[in-house]
Amino acid sequence: MNNSGFILAGWLIDGSGRSVQRNRVLHIKNGYIDFIKKAEKDGFNRAELLDFSDSTILPGLVDSHVHLSMSATNNQQDRKYQLVAGFDYIKDLISSHIKQHFLSGVLAVRDGGDNKEHVLRYKTGHLNYKNTPISLKVAGSAWHKPGRYGKLIGRSPSGNDSIAQAIAKENKKIDHIKIVNSGLNSLTLFGKETLPQFKKEELREVVELAQIRGLKVMVHANGKKPVKIAVDSGCHSIEHGFFMGREVLKQMADNNVVWVPTACTMNAYSQFLKSTGIEADVARKNLDHQLEQIFQARESGVLIALGTDSGSLGVEHGKAVIEELKLLIKAGFPIQEAIKSATLNGARLLGLTNTGLLAEKMPATFLVVRGTPSDLPDSLNRIKTIYINGTHFNSLG
Ligand SMILES: [Zn+2]
Repeated sequence: MNNSGFILAGWLIDGSGRSVQRNRVLHIKNGYIDFIKKAEKDGFNRAELLDFSDSTILPGLVDSHVHLSMSATNNQQDRKYQLVAGFDYIKDLISSHIKQHFLSGVLAVRDGGDNKEHVLRYKTGHLNYKNTPISLKVAGSAWHKPGRYGKLIGRSPSGNDSIAQAIAKENKKIDHIKIVNSGLNSLTLFGKETLPQFKKEELREVVELAQIRGLKVMVHANGKKPVKIAVDSGCHSIEHGFFMGREVLKQMADNNVVWVPTACTMNAYSQFLKSTGIEADVARKNLDHQLEQIFQARESGVLIALGTDSGSLGVEHGKAVIEELKLLIKAGFPIQEAIKSATLNGARLLGLTNTGLLAEKMPATFLVVRGTPSDLPDSLNRIKTIYINGTHFNSLG
């Protein structure tokens, strides 16, 4: 099929969160979905169809939190080197990570920043959409308060500048602003909170500036106070959000703030830190607590976008999306809602209007995965084929 034709889907998950649809015909015209209808028995000529009746069709996935300049390796020397290496080395690493995403069906990623702005530079001069058709949204370098956590992925305002003044002085081609407003989760004391990095007023100035520039603000925050300050400031998404508590979750639902829980980071820690005992144990408890929060978030109507924090220790680019989907399902999401968080919700968060949903007038960009929806998400390890704008995508350049 080249841009136009009929496709028979055994199962269709359209990205909207509605129930799985059985036996659907998609008519593709000039790269777009012309219509979707139920496949009638003998109601069409099977010879005209591309027959995927043994497969599930779903939109391309969106990972709303990645760090493309870092790999999942647990070799500490390699991890340290990736933080100081020059662009020539890192650009190849970024290319390989983007390919890994694509092979897992991830067609859009939002990068959470790196301290040398390598990913921004890569997007500006090296991203080859034709070879790897993936949408890349970048933060450049994140912002944190002097002396606080965040150096690995960002920098802090210089001199007497407020954070908004520092951001205002820059005019880089970024897609969103990334702020760090807490520390990391403790891996020795379960639930120990860190102090917020910024005041509500400081972050509100950032959000106002971002709005003038048409950008969204993503805030790394764990713990009640740091998350509440970020939500009060009007930010668009909370990243991680461990231990934010039920009240703050409700506030997020009321204010349409998107949550990107990155639960799989703690799963990875609990596996990779096995030898050290206590840390692996706390990571496991953090994970369990996060799954409870995800359950509460669903009850409260918080919009969740799937993000993995891939590039973090043990969190593989691409494959981690499958792990995070499993965790959402474990926390109580039916498959169609888990997929929605990894398609439509992510697309909206990234400002992508032409992806995340399979419906009339949308581009015919989708994954064909062998098996029934109950084989998901593991079957994403064996994607049969990927269609980009109605055309079967052959190979990665
Ligand atoms: Zn991150």
